[in-house]
Amino acid sequence: MFDYHIHSEFSDDSTEKMKNILEEAIKKGGEKICFTEHKEFNYPDKDIKFNLNYNEYKKEIEKIKSIYGEKIEIYMGVEIGIQAGEKNIQEIIEYTKEHKFDFILASAHCLDGIGLYGMDPKINNLDDLFSRYFNEMLDVFKKFNDYDVVGHIDLIRRYFIGAQDHKLEKSKEVLKELFTHIIKEGKGIEINTGGLFYDSASINPTLDILKLYKKMGGTIVTIGSDSHIAERTLTHYEKALEFLKDAGFEYITTFSQRKKEFHKIK
Ligand SMILES: [Zn+2]
Ligand SMILES: [Zn+2]
Repeated sequence: MFDYHIHSEFSDDSTEKMKNILEEAIKKGGEKICFTEHKEFNYPDKDIKFNLNYNEYKKEIEKIKSIYGEKIEIYMGVEIGIQAGEKNIQEIIEYTKEHKFDFILASAHCLDGIGLYGMDPKINNLDDLFSRYFNEMLDVFKKFNDYDVVGHIDLIRRYFIGAQDHKLEKSKEVLKELFTHIIKEGKGIEINTGGLFYDSASINPTLDILKLYKKMGGTIVTIGSDSHIAERTLTHYEKALEFLKDAGFEYITTFSQRKKEFHKIK
């Protein structure tokens, strides 16, 4: 069992101790876990900035490895918040160049400079909303390619009325463009089970989107719980595996020192 999307107290929206997460993961039979602490640039919220104390984070990872490293493989990743705009992109490029991680998950938590979390959930044109979301990621990835996997690629589903079941129409063309780019660059996507804890109660992305990625030649998929508390580490792993198999994948991907490893699904 692998969990490649975990937050601890090094993320501004979690207070969980790494130690608790490790104990939970070992109890559940985890083989590899990767912390993906939040790092945002110019996050549009006055109370929460999602800065990451890299040096302290690294120190704690080393400490925790010395305690639990014989029982489970522990990796140090980051969930980089991506936003369009020259200034944002330059900051992301510099940061990833200057900081070493095992795994870089690139996630869009904002749209047009506004946090998804704080947006009005009522929206008239959902197809336009999805198009803008996918387009913003594409704009960033055309200039920034120092990442491994795109986080929760249809996260936008989680925040707007009617978006959970929204069938992609025009926005599907934009998504295809995004997939073409991601696949050409050798990047992957993730199955994020964190949504199962929201009202939307769904995995991101939908099975349709996962199948589309596969059909277009995508092969790299990680699985992550997006947990912010220890108990959620490695949750719904079996469900995510079923999803992968249903979409026709035979392998699950993990990363170590930014290198991919493929594991045959049993
Ligand atoms: Zn995220
Ligand atoms: Zn996350």
